[in-house]
Amino acid sequence: MNFDAFFKISYGLYIVSSKNNDNKFTGHISNTVFQTTAEPPTLAICTNKQNLTCDYIAQSKVFTIAILNQDVDMKFIGLFGFKSGKDIDKFSQVKYKVGKTGAPVVIDNTIAYFECEVINTVDVGTHMMFVAKIVESEMLQDGEPLTYANYRMIKKGLSPKTAPTYIDKSKLKSKEQNEEKKMAKYVCTVCGYVYDPAIGDPDSGIKAGTAFEDIPDDWVCPTCGVGKDSFEKQ
Ligand code: FE
Repeated sequence: MNFDAFFKISYGLYIVSSKNNDNKFTGHISNTVFQTTAEPPTLAICTNKQNLTCDYIAQSKVFTIAILNQDVDMKFIGLFGFKSGKDIDKFSQVKYKVGKTGAPVVIDNTIAYFECEVINTVDVGTHMMFVAKIVESEMLQDGEPLTYANYRMIKKGLSPKTAPTYIDKSKLKSKEQNEEKKMAKYVCTVCGYVYDPAIGDPDSGIKAGTAFEDIPDDWVCPTCGVGKDSFEKQ
């Protein structure tokens, strides 16, 4: 089997959120959302059983799907993608509203959303597949939806051209390019984020051209939030 073939499947990137029976909220990043029928409008999601969101959906039978704008930054994705709702209250850190179903809808970076009620559940081993009836949908802002391919570029530190953090390396001066060569990349041992000195971390005020050694000690991984000591030279 050639696993590269799996990366040729196209996906979007979404935040799937739910509530439990105590009305606590959580959500996580998901790339497996697809429409199943048009009449009535239904869709399906697939979520890992280890995700708290999976437990919450199984309890409440409701969830929401936020379609992310491709301009979203890695910190935001990191909050929902690399941290567990078992450890932190993700909804204390974002703008959201409570929808018709009582489940939360993330507003930040969302171009459109759906509210859903589960009509069928399939146990597929490591994951649960939830098929749901769409009870509400709304457009929130203009923008292009984030794709999984785009996300993989952002994760590598290569922002899409439309993103505010994008830096055209060809425009860097030759002197700076020479300095770049001396500076090593560092990898986050927790999430795989790569700090590239040529790009820096502009969202956290780290300018392009800053060596890893020169980053302030209180800087944290923009993806998963761990400190500098969790990084290794690439
Ligand atoms: Fe990290």
